[in-house]
Amino acid sequence: MKKYDFIIIGTGMGGATLGYKLAKAGVKVLFLEKGISHIKSQKQIRGEFAETLMFQKKSMNDYSSLHNTGRCTDLIYSNSDKKNFIPFIGKGGGGSSSLYGAVLEQFKPEDFNNELWPISYSDLEPYYQQAESMFEVSRNNLSLSPENIKAWDVLSNNGIHPYELPMALSRANSHLNHQCKDNCQSVLCNHYQKNDAEKIALAPAIVNHQADLIDECEVLELNWKNNKIISVKCIVKNQVTNYFADNFILAAGAIFSPALLLKSKNLANSSGLVGKYLMRHMVDLYSVFIKGSNVSINTQKQIGFNDFYNINGEKFGNVQSFGSLPPSEVILNELIHKLPNFLHKPTEKIAPFLNPFLGSIFKREFKDKLIFASIMEDEPSIENNISVDQKSKKIIMNYKPSEKDTEKVKNFRQMVIKAFAPLKVKLIESAFDNKRLAHVCGTLRFGNNPNKSVLNKNNRSHDIENLYVVDSSFFPTSGGINPSLTIAANSLRVADKILEII
Ligand SMILES: Cc1cc2nc3c(=O)[nH]c(=O)nc-3n(C[C@H](O)[C@H](O)[C@H](O)COP(=O)(O)OP(=O)(O)OC[C@H]3O[C@@H](n4cnc5c(N)ncnc54)[C@H](O)[C@@H]3O)c2cc1C
Repeated sequence: MKKYDFIIIGTGMGGATLGYKLAKAGVKVLFLEKGISHIKSQKQIRGEFAETLMFQKKSMNDYSSLHNTGRCTDLIYSNSDKKNFIPFIGKGGGGSSSLYGAVLEQFKPEDFNNELWPISYSDLEPYYQQAESMFEVSRNNLSLSPENIKAWDVLSNNGIHPYELPMALSRANSHLNHQCKDNCQSVLCNHYQKNDAEKIALAPAIVNHQADLIDECEVLELNWKNNKIISVKCIVKNQVTNYFADNFILAAGAIFSPALLLKSKNLANSSGLVGKYLMRHMVDLYSVFIKGSNVSINTQKQIGFNDFYNINGEKFGNVQSFGSLPPSEVILNELIHKLPNFLHKPTEKIAPFLNPFLGSIFKREFKDKLIFASIMEDEPSIENNISVDQKSKKIIMNYKPSEKDTEKVKNFRQMVIKAFAPLKVKLIESAFDNKRLAHVCGTLRFGNNPNKSVLNKNNRSHDIENLYVVDSSFFPTSGGINPSLTIAANSLRVADKILEII
């Protein structure tokens, strides 16, 4: 069997970006990915929500609908809610970036100014520039819609400073420009217009730089001896196989990376911090009524503001266009899963018949509205974590917002509503919904002190010399803004550190 220099587990923003840079430098790289990559297979269903397919099939927990639309299929137990749920995150080539809204923002310099970050903004700045150029980030993708201009004017009159969002979209083809006006958030982009990690990093690594990829390959365990990983045990096409390499990069995302280490006989956990300090951002939505306008629910992500990012040392976060809301099936499916367990079965059966009614109410409710999201930094707490039940191997999540964060969410909501005055704003509460894990991070924090962190400042395990972790697990704080550009920039930085020593 071929032996690789590096095996990379997971092809999301962190794994694919790092693997691309290593492969480009001539390193022999093998990517292992649990979900489907379109580079390998035609099975993906693009431009569709899994829930839409599930409603058509009248089966609300359908594995293949989730798997084929690039969505996570793993059931997690939320201990705080005493419920099982499947997180709305990505699985497959590009990971969650293949579902993302493509807003690529830098963290602010002050986000690094605390004792928890072992690197400063200036360490990352050149890599932010590299990542922006690689993912073709630009403002001014489309001219602002009249409704966004109206929102911009109202915000400016209130002393707020709106700006155009930096987006990772290829708009070379004006025909596609027209078709993709809804930005494909939450679905695999039908036109490959979204610059996600599969398109920008994984595909070129394979096509141009001889990297290998095995998709639909789930890593079950890392096999290790003394303080070195020897191989990974995987399941591919129902067969258990081991793959060997000199070095291993864990990039399975902030839920599955710590879970894999815990499943691998508590690997890399001398600090006892594997899985701890889970963060997820407290995100609320606002529907802003713009009188007399003709706004459809399919709107571009166009503007944002940072006026509440940091107020006299207290950090709240960014506010930005949310873009399109998901179809009514997604909302109805969430409602079904909120019901007590004994009601699930019958409700599942009648849900497809309820959906057309809900759909028309939904359309009416969101006519003439622009949707915005507030993204609030949540504080790291050791009580918030991922663990694994060693008998059943089930992943367990504990997350409870602190009292301070609960208070901050309430203040943030008031500030956002006031910023849009006199426009009518309706708050759609979601900050306290523990299922919202799109921005999950922090479960394998990096730092200088091996007793207080899992990784060193170059993302290498303090304990295991041939293990690096580059997904969003490394964040010691979550910042108040979208995470992907920071994940990608850091991967490019770590790639340089690796290339210096091999
Ligand atoms: C709907 C949505 C919209 C978003 N919008 C934005 C946005 O506009 N801007 C922004 O910056 N961020 C956005 N995000 C967040 C962003 O996408 C994520 O923070 C980022 O992609 C996470 O990257 P990652 O490398 O940490 O891991 P992930 O993207 O989670 O990738 C991990 C990969 O590992 C694979 N994997 C897991 N376990 C295994 C295993 N055992 N074996 C093999 N493979 C495995 C998974 O299948 C996955 O492909 C959004 C997220 C979602 C869900």
